This record gives sequence, C-alpha cells and structure tokens, in this order.
Amino acid sequence: MRKVVIAGNWKMNKTLAEATDFMDAVIPKAPGGNTEAIVCAPFVHLPALVEKAKGSNVKVAAQNMHFEESGAFTGEVSPVMLTDIGVTHVVIGHSERREYYAETDESVNQKTKAAFAHGLTPIVCVGETLEQREANETMNVVGGQVKKALAGLSDEQVTQTIIAYEPIWAIGTGKTASSEDANEVCAKTRKVIAEVTSGDIADQVVIQYGGSVKPANIDELLSQSDIDGALVGGASLEPESFVQLVEAGT
Ligand code: PGA
Repeated sequence: MRKVVIAGNWKMNKTLAEATDFMDAVIPKAPGGNTEAIVCAPFVHLPALVEKAKGSNVKVAAQNMHFEESGAFTGEVSPVMLTDIGVTHVVIGHSERREYYAETDESVNQKTKAAFAHGLTPIVCVGETLEQREANETMNVVGGQVKKALAGLSDEQVTQTIIAYEPIWAIGTGKTASSEDANEVCAKTRKVIAEVTSGDIADQVVIQYGGSVKPANIDELLSQSDIDGALVGGASLEPESFVQLVEAGT
C-alpha cells in the first residue's frame, strides 16, 4: 500500500516567528503512521524548523535547490547544505519556478539526480497550462515532463520519487481539477512511469495532486485510486487547516 503524503508549500510566506509558531501548533497533532506530513519552507527558516521537527512526525523540505554541490553560484543553495542541516525533502520544478526562474525539464532532471546523490527525497512537480489542457495536450505535456525528470534514475530511485501533478490553471486560483480529472492524469502518469521502469515500480510511486486543495475537497481527492496525497499552497499556511489536511490522509 502506498503511503499518503501531504506537503504544505508555504512559497514566499511567513516570518521566522510565524514559521516556528506553526510548527509548535502542528507537531503535537501530526498523526504519523501511513500519512507523511511535510512542510516546504523558505531556506532561511529551514534550520529552525528542522530543529523543531526532530523526533516528530513532521518532515521539512526546501522549495528548491541548485544541483551542484558548491561553487560560484551566487544566491544559490546546494543539496549538500540541505542534508547538512537535516532537511529530508526538496520540491523540484514547481510551475512558479519553471515560469519565473527559467527552470527547465533539464534542470529538473539534474536537480532530481542531485537530490538522490545527496540522500534527499525529491517532490517533482509537473502540470499543464489551461491552454495546453484545452488543446488536449495534457498528457503529452505531463508525460513528457515526468519522463524527462526521471531520466537516468534507477528503478529504486523512481520508487522513492514523489510526483506532484499540479495543473497550472488550478494553482492559487480556487479552481480545482475535478477529482476524476485529477485522478485520470495521475493514473496516466503512473502508466508513463511504468513505461520507463520495470516490474511493479510504478505502483509504488506516490503521486500527489496539487492546485487549490483545501479541507473541503481533500477527502474526495484522496478517495481516488491514483491520488496519494497533496501538495498544498494557500491552505497549508494556517496550522488548523494543514492539520485537517493531514488528518484526512489517515
Ligand atoms: P495552491 O498552491 O494550493 O495555493 O493552489 C499549490 C502549489 O502551488 O503547490
């Protein structure tokens, strides 16, 4: 059975005090078991959050990283730095990074490989624009992004990769894909993964849905056959709502 992974993507939000208060509120309520709760926080908050999360059921993720270990990359953070402070997960290729920071399928692949090289679990984001969906291009786009992101990974690494399917038109817009539509893309994505791996690897991969997920729609999304969790932006900012989302996974 696949675990359920609920990841809160704070994006560029919260002061340090707000971030640590959030952890104080959420940690005692994080259920553990088959449900994994992850907080994806801005770089500057990561050391404090990792410290808070020690011994709890909450994991801490970065929202991005460079793929090189070190060097002349002003303003960047390396995978070595993340593992050094105890970060366990990293979001790679979020659509906002693809759109505003020139993230490409190639850099997503480099970062995914770098994550595994340094013992980090990647949460790889894929998703189509509204234009692409309306032109029936969804699976071409999403399938292509998934194949390129996973290129060169071992089957074992693919099983550990978390894929976040996030239709761009549903992010921060209040428009959620219907749970059936979201599930259809997640199921087809699993087939794409099956094409590039062997055996039953694809059945083991956690595929999240993301895009306007909130306590009111999480149950229906998680009841679908191929949706194994959620990457949540807006509704992950308040501890109460994040806890409700995590509880829905139990
Ligand atoms: P949203 O963001 O939940 O605010 O739509 C999701 C995301 O961008 O990961």
